[in-house]
Amino acid sequence: MDYHYCPFCSGSLSVNPKGKRLRRYCPECGFIHYKNPTVGVAVILLRGDQVLLIKRRGSYDGMWCIPCGHVEWDEDIRLCARRELEEETGLQVELGPVFDVHSNFHDPAHQTVGVWFMGKLRGGELQPGSDAREAKFFALDSLPEKMAFPTDLLICQKLKRILLDEKDGLAHLCDEYAKYF
Ligand SMILES: [Zn+2]
Repeated sequence: MDYHYCPFCSGSLSVNPKGKRLRRYCPECGFIHYKNPTVGVAVILLRGDQVLLIKRRGSYDGMWCIPCGHVEWDEDIRLCARRELEEETGLQVELGPVFDVHSNFHDPAHQTVGVWFMGKLRGGELQPGSDAREAKFFALDSLPEKMAFPTDLLICQKLKRILLDEKDGLAHLCDEYAKYF
């Protein structure tokens, strides 16, 4: 989606011919429309070989995902991760290291960079929040059929390799990670 008018001065935007990428810009005030992905954040909470998922409400309604959300302007990414998890599942976590990072292209109009953190349960009671229909743990080898995001599947495959498929998979994890499994 492209702007046609400048969001600052309402002037008509032109296309900047310089550089490899064509960017819209405002000849009146100099605004340049850089299209960048937003930052998404997710928390992986494990119980044995099960991972916590939520059934979404709103976008991707009825599909399942690892609890996640968008980092707000002025919000620290780690605080955001804990906030989103608590809002969606009622659980409080200690946030661990980053498990993985992926670019999300499944919705070309709303591209994001997703950061998946490990989490460790610290309190709360598991119950779906206002933007979730359900919140529950699934075994990594029997995930729900309707998963919302392809990159969540990559994450679950990687978790499964570590926990179920590779002999002594956990032994290869450094201590920083092992305590979150
Ligand atoms: Zn302008």
